[in-house]
Amino acid sequence: MRILVVEDEASLREGLTDLLGGDGHEVAAVADGVAAVERGLAEGWDLIVLDLMLPRLSGMDVCRRLRAARPGMPILMLTARGSEDDKVRGLGEGADDYVTKPFSARELLARVRALGRRAPAEVIEHLDVDGLIVDFGRLTARRGDATVPLTPREAGLLRWLHRQRGRAVSRAEILEQVFGQRGDLHTRAVDMAIVVLRKKIERDPAHPRIVVSVKGAGYAWGVDA
Ligand code: CA
Repeated sequence: MRILVVEDEASLREGLTDLLGGDGHEVAAVADGVAAVERGLAEGWDLIVLDLMLPRLSGMDVCRRLRAARPGMPILMLTARGSEDDKVRGLGEGADDYVTKPFSARELLARVRALGRRAPAEVIEHLDVDGLIVDFGRLTARRGDATVPLTPREAGLLRWLHRQRGRAVSRAEILEQVFGQRGDLHTRAVDMAIVVLRKKIERDPAHPRIVVSVKGAGYAWGVDA
């Protein structure tokens, strides 16, 4: 993979570069948020490893800007120990996963490999389903004259569900694959997120056609099925 490391702490930046390079990746590194956005958008990357606390522009702002311009580019966020709010916010801004500092080399490489496997085989910028046009670049859903904004996570959920079309997915799977959380939050959060999403995208949220419920299993992409 081509990986961009964004970390202001020189020793960690060099350590990450060596570690990822040693794992066979092609690695470049920058030390502040403005450089991260410039470099992140200037070239094609398979993964951005992004520190949260950065000079000039915060990791959260960098994440938002990169995600808005490159919805399909995986972002792994580095957060400080115990800052649960940061993780939740980071995932809300579109980070795909996070690693808490201090992390082991093994843990980081495992996450990087997982994101590599998850990297989109088909990068779609638009989706046209049941009269709804989803724009993943602008993070909007348009039906007729009405356009509603989507959060990065909602767009991510639609993209991921579409990729899984033809099979039912469990709440736990959505929680892990889309929300980036491993069982520490109740799967009820998935149901609540889908209620909100259906109000934005379905013709009739009480009778959904795009994100359908599958009894005893979870959810599925309904339109093509
Ligand atoms: Ca930092």
